[in-house]
Amino acid sequence: MTIEVKNINKRFGDFVALNNVSLQFPQGELTALLGPSGCGKTTLLRIIAGLEHPDSGQVILDSNDASNRHVRERQVGFVFQHYALFKHMTVFENVAFGLRVKPRAERPSEEQIRRKVKDLLELVQLDWLADRYPPQLSGGQRQRIALARALAVEPRVLLLDEPFGALDAKVRKELRRWLRRLHDDLHVTSIFVTHDQEEALEVADQVVLMNKGNVEQIGAPDEVYNHPASPFVYGFLGNVNMFHGRVQDGVLASGAASFEVPGQPSADGKGTAYVRPHDLDIERYTPGAEGIVVKLRRAHAIGPLAQLDLERDDTSELIEAVMSNERFSSLQLKEGETLVVRPKRLRVFVDQGASI
Ligand code: ATP
Repeated sequence: MTIEVKNINKRFGDFVALNNVSLQFPQGELTALLGPSGCGKTTLLRIIAGLEHPDSGQVILDSNDASNRHVRERQVGFVFQHYALFKHMTVFENVAFGLRVKPRAERPSEEQIRRKVKDLLELVQLDWLADRYPPQLSGGQRQRIALARALAVEPRVLLLDEPFGALDAKVRKELRRWLRRLHDDLHVTSIFVTHDQEEALEVADQVVLMNKGNVEQIGAPDEVYNHPASPFVYGFLGNVNMFHGRVQDGVLASGAASFEVPGQPSADGKGTAYVRPHDLDIERYTPGAEGIVVKLRRAHAIGPLAQLDLERDDTSELIEAVMSNERFSSLQLKEGETLVVRPKRLRVFVDQGASI
């Protein structure tokens, strides 16, 4: 099923939870709604499900306006952060639940239910837990059962609200890979809410960045990561260094350093260059070298990458840099040493409210 939301507005009292949100969710794709707490992700998910009504705007399912359709008629499956399994029912009965409560005419036979639940438990690789009760399961197992239960009614849309939010980091990582594989097998149009950027970038086909009820950017993971549309997206998707300064004629002057900003921005004025830690060239300082002169404050070199904390000589601001551990070792850098850094890739945004 394709999903589209058009000009959705939602307020709670004076608070604007969603501000004219329009989005498309392609058939069979897995979309992450990503943003900080309170940005409206869950509200949007609930509106798509039909659990919440927008003040204005439309929800379109397979090109049909579903805005007035009841939640039961929208053929959605849900999984929430806090696995809402029935504690007094076995795993088997939890998964069978949605089938048993179907109207009599649509209800499968006992034999069909048994086969279906068995298949679903195999799909989530937990068929050996069929007779257990939810309190006897780990958090990760409960979430997989919750997913099997949501899938039992063959939803045409799967909505997941921070499905792994309550789990520890290692289990989360396992489950997100597992969810991706499951999605590749089933191809159900799915939307999952997360505030974890790594999770969104790793799992989703499409990432929707939300901030304060607005959509800041939509795109494939590599696109939003490599070409952030706004300072917010830069900051939210990974670490970033900010070099404040003034732009004039395509050159940003920041402290004692200046760099060209090819092609952008069009206007002169106060601006900030955004540079990812791995987009910095680092060399030992030599007099006259161009770039930002820094001191190496701390180096943390474990695994394939070395992470460096650098302090600018001119402004005392801290810069975070990352390079391969191999290169770090070959340079034989020492803490306290003077270095020079140059951005290999940067994006300049003219500061909001700055006079241009
Ligand atoms: P989180 O990651 O913390 O769940 P979210 O992005 O999912 O955040 P929402 O749950 O959509 O955010 O909430 C958006 C805003 O709307 C929040 O500030 C929240 O307090 C507010 N809000 C949500 N539901 C209600 C409600 N029923 N009544 C009043 N305010 C609400």
